Amino acid sequence: MTCREFLALLDDLIDENLTAETRAEIEQHLHKCGHCEVIFNTTRKTIEIYRSHELYELPPAVNERLHAAIMARCKAKHS
Ligand SMILES: [Zn+2]
Repeated sequence: MTCREFLALLDDLIDENLTAETRAEIEQHLHKCGHCEVIFNTTRKTIEIYRSHELYELPPAVNERLHAAIMARCKAKHS
């Protein structure tokens, strides 16, 4: 699993729409990639806050900022 694949699955992961197999692959990636782990924890917390206010959609700008930040960090780390 790459950072890009992780990001593509992030929404489904939060919504718990993934198979056990895919979740295991994601967990493996999170062990190796601290940046994606941070983005997962941050996103999950953000969504919990939104849900507690009964707002179910993350504003697209927030999602885009999170994705851009993690991709920039992963690129810097791996290059
Ligand atoms: Zn990653």
